[in-house]
Amino acid sequence: MLDARPTTSGTAKPTKALVQVRDLKMYFPIHTGLLRRHTGDVKAVDGITFDINEGETLGLVGESGCGKSTVGRALLRLYEPTAGSVVIGGVDVASLDAEALRKTRPQMQMVFQDPQASLNPRMSLADIIGEPLTEHTDWDSARKLARIYELMDAVGLNRRFANRFPHEFSGGQRQRIGIARALALKPRFIVCDEPIAALDVSIQAQVVNLLEDLQEEFGLTYLFISHDLSMVRHIADRVAVMYLGRIAELSSRDDLYARPLHPYAEALLSAVPEPDPNLSRSKERIILQGDVPSPANPPKGCNFCTRCPRVMPICREVKPDLAEVEPGRMVACHLYTEINPNVAGRTGPAEVKEPTNKETVK
Ligand code: SF4
Repeated sequence: MLDARPTTSGTAKPTKALVQVRDLKMYFPIHTGLLRRHTGDVKAVDGITFDINEGETLGLVGESGCGKSTVGRALLRLYEPTAGSVVIGGVDVASLDAEALRKTRPQMQMVFQDPQASLNPRMSLADIIGEPLTEHTDWDSARKLARIYELMDAVGLNRRFANRFPHEFSGGQRQRIGIARALALKPRFIVCDEPIAALDVSIQAQVVNLLEDLQEEFGLTYLFISHDLSMVRHIADRVAVMYLGRIAELSSRDDLYARPLHPYAEALLSAVPEPDPNLSRSKERIILQGDVPSPANPPKGCNFCTRCPRVMPICREVKPDLAEVEPGRMVACHLYTEINPNVAGRTGPAEVKEPTNKETVK
């Protein structure tokens, strides 16, 4: 029997994992010199583990270049993972051969960041939405057209537009076309890779609301990749915070936004505008010093140790594992682990000095 968890709306969602990612690594080799010798790797994703429950939206956030889009692409085998396993709907996607992968593709789809670039300008709207049906079914044209109309209705595109071309649509409408195409084969899992980043602010909420409506209607499961923390707060059930190819914290949306535990998550979320004016007045903005290290040469210990306001000697030597520090809250930080002598026998953070680089936001 499935467990149930409460949502903010008071209804219960099932918690059976549809997507299981284990120790996923995605390294890009560096070749140098005349002989193009392999001299190292860019560790874009360096051993991440998480589940996404059926019907859930997992937000994946972090600064640009932290590896979040690479995770989405590796999950769908648009990149070949270097190591690790990705199980979607009981199928180990990472180990499938080309033909088995083609057959599994309908189950997992992607909505891309730039709808302009992801749509073929020479194809009509009906051809674009119907392309996956042509590739994966032997339906006749009448059946295909009926499905195309159904999808256009679902995403709010007028059927009269079926023979128009991408340049005739606005950015928001083009993203609706991309979403309709992703839905064509009735997938269970969709990676939404910065789906609103290229849209006007006035359109962003409409597209996010549409994604939510479609999730409810079709029972979809989302990985929602975004650097827009306010939008992730709106749509996600749980949120994973990434830093330099690793997950720093994975918590329920409400827990994370109310009380981030990892120092990086704390800094990242301190920049999110607080809608409650009473809370907003007391909110402190944490300004991080220094630059993000290169993923080709990450620190030996914690990836965040070069910028962390709470860094300890152990942080420079030992990489912290992602561990459950409170029920349902996973954090990769020595402040919360037994290996830190300051916290032996405790589950909360050690007594630490307040960060020195905090400033109050007026
Ligand atoms: Fe900071 Fe150390 Fe925790 Fe890393 S492990 S986030 S450096 S306190």
